[in-house]
Amino acid sequence: MKDFVGALPLIDHHCHGVVARDLDRPGFEALMSEGHRPVPGCSQFDKPLGLALLRHCPPVLGLAPHAEPGDYLEIRRTLGFEEVSRRLIGANGVDTLLIDTGHRSDAIFDPARMTAISGVPSREVVRIEAVMEEVARRKPASGAELRKAFEERLAERSAGAVGLKSIVAYRTTFDIDQSEPAEAEVDAAGDLWLRQLDSGEARRLENAVLIRHGLYVGARLCRDRGFPMQLHVGFGDRDVMMPKCDPTVFLPFIEAMETMGVTITLLHCWPFLREAAWLAEVFSNVYVDTGVSQNFTGASAPRVVAEMMELAPFHKQVYSSDAFGLAELHYMGARLFRDALAEVLAGWIARGDLLPQRAEQIARAIAFGNACRIYGLPLPASA
Ligand SMILES: [Zn+2]
Repeated sequence: MKDFVGALPLIDHHCHGVVARDLDRPGFEALMSEGHRPVPGCSQFDKPLGLALLRHCPPVLGLAPHAEPGDYLEIRRTLGFEEVSRRLIGANGVDTLLIDTGHRSDAIFDPARMTAISGVPSREVVRIEAVMEEVARRKPASGAELRKAFEERLAERSAGAVGLKSIVAYRTTFDIDQSEPAEAEVDAAGDLWLRQLDSGEARRLENAVLIRHGLYVGARLCRDRGFPMQLHVGFGDRDVMMPKCDPTVFLPFIEAMETMGVTITLLHCWPFLREAAWLAEVFSNVYVDTGVSQNFTGASAPRVVAEMMELAPFHKQVYSSDAFGLAELHYMGARLFRDALAEVLAGWIARGDLLPQRAEQIARAIAFGNACRIYGLPLPASA
C-alpha cells in the first residue's frame, strides 16, 4: 500500500507560496510555528514538526535523515532558497497546487512564481476578506460605493481562479448571525468601517455584517462558476477564538450553501476532526481535509488521518498541505499524508475490512479524484 499511495499524484487543494528569500535560523524557526514567537532558550525543532522535518527533508538536500538543525540550515543556505524550493516542491509528486493568495501576499511567491520555481502547475484560490480590504484601501467615498466596488472586484479576481476562501472563523468566529444582510445594512456597516479605517480605529476587516455580505456575494460566484468555497476551521494562527470555531457552529450557513448548490471545503479541521467528518456525512456539499495537522503532528499523523477516516465518506475527503512560507512544509505535507493514508488502509486490509483493490480506489479518490471533481480540474496525466 505504501508504494502505491507513494506513487499517486496529489492535488494540494490548499497551500500558500514560499518566502522569496533566504532565511536565517530565527526566520526559519518563526515559519515552523503558528505562534511566530520564539520561546527563550528553546527551539521550534524540539516538537513533532521539527522531528518530522529533520527526518524527511535532509535527504532531499543531500544530507542523512535526522541531521542536526544547524547542519540542515547550513546546506539550505548554501543551496539557496530557489534550489531548495525546486527540490522540495518539485520532488513530492504533487500534480497541482491550489494557492491561497490572500495571506501576507507581499512576502511570498505568487502562483506564477511558485510554478516557475518548482515546475508544478498552480491555480489561484481568492480570499474574500482580502479583496474587500483591497477595495477599502482605494478609499471609496461611501459604504454603498465600497459594496459595489467589492462585488465587481471579487468577480474580476475570481475569473481565473478555481475557488474562493473565507477566514470568517478568524475574523468574527463562526458564532454570528449567518443570514445574508440587507443592502442598507451593508451600506451602513461600510460607512462605519471606512470611518474607522480613516481614524485608525480599525485596521483589518472584522465587521460581521460586511463579512456576511462577502460570504453571500462569494457564494453566488461559486454557484455560477461551479467551484467551491473554502472555509478555514480550527488550527491556525493564535488569533483564532478556538471554542467558537467548531464548524458545527456554522451549520446554518453550510445548510444555506447546500440549498444554493455551493460546495464547501472545510480546511485543517483539527481539533474538530469528528465534527467536520460528521458535517461531511450529513451535508451533501461538505468536503474535509486534515491539512496542516499532518505537518504539526508529524510522527502521529497516521492517528489524525485515521480519525478523519473513521467517519468521513471517502468521496468527501481531499488532500492539502497548508504549507506556508517554507518549501519543507510542502514536501512534508505530501510525504506524511501519503504515509498516514497508506498506514490506515494497510491496517484495514490486514484486518480483512477491505480488499486491496478497493483500498486503491479510495486512495486515488482522496489523493486527487475528489479534488479534480469539485474544482473542475483535469485528472493528472500520471493518474
Ligand atoms: Zn492556509
